[in-house]
Amino acid sequence: MGRRTAWVGTSWKMNKGPAEAVVAARALAELSIPPHVQPFVVPPFTSLKDVCSILRDKNILVGAQNMHWENEGAWTGEVSPPMVKECGAALVELGHSERRTYFGETDQTVNLKVLAALKYGLKPLICIGDTQEEYAFNVTNEVLARQVKIALHGVKAHEFENILLAYEPVWAIGEKGRPAEADFVQNCHEQVRQTLIELAGEETAERIPVLYGGSVNLENAPHYAALPDVDGVFVGRAAWPVAGFKAIIESI
Ligand code: PGA
Repeated sequence: MGRRTAWVGTSWKMNKGPAEAVVAARALAELSIPPHVQPFVVPPFTSLKDVCSILRDKNILVGAQNMHWENEGAWTGEVSPPMVKECGAALVELGHSERRTYFGETDQTVNLKVLAALKYGLKPLICIGDTQEEYAFNVTNEVLARQVKIALHGVKAHEFENILLAYEPVWAIGEKGRPAEADFVQNCHEQVRQTLIELAGEETAERIPVLYGGSVNLENAPHYAALPDVDGVFVGRAAWPVAGFKAIIESI
């Protein structure tokens, strides 16, 4: 790992109601965090405010799983950037493959949301990734370059330092997913870094954290995190129990 902070995050996705989330957040508040690790947790909207207040003075950032790009209006079922901000969140996850696949999220809507997040002082955690088909046809690098370029279109030079990216191959996520090979991951991250260099210049690009996600678990997490262009891991299932999250943090 070496040159960068190791980010270790988990999205609870559609798990943990308000009561369970509070119990989990209180347990997270008790964790001792090694200085080289920056943890974050992404609860459902229903417990965002509570989790933010429990973790306010702790070194664990809290984020939302999605948001709209408009700041108010007739958008039934949506949550705006100022609402996320008012809950106390520091970051917002955007463009997760489940959002892209099941809820019509596109590179363009991700871009609108990235710009809105930056405007409201939220760190966008932008998820990118190739589908099984794109992987099979060997166009992963092109897909990632396109997703990164569109997501970051219009981002100003001084705003790049607030960006986080997560490479999450769609074929690696969830119960049916298979974790990606370490060499493959390193190669993809190197390509993403090249795209970031094109957009932001070398010095800034080197500082943008690019995480890996998709079937990360206690065994493979330290291997991914040790890759030169991987700045940490974004975990689902294996980190939903606080004990699992803790063990992964300690393994890095
Ligand atoms: P998983 O989810 O770790 O359960 O595969 C990863 C993700 O969707 O970020």
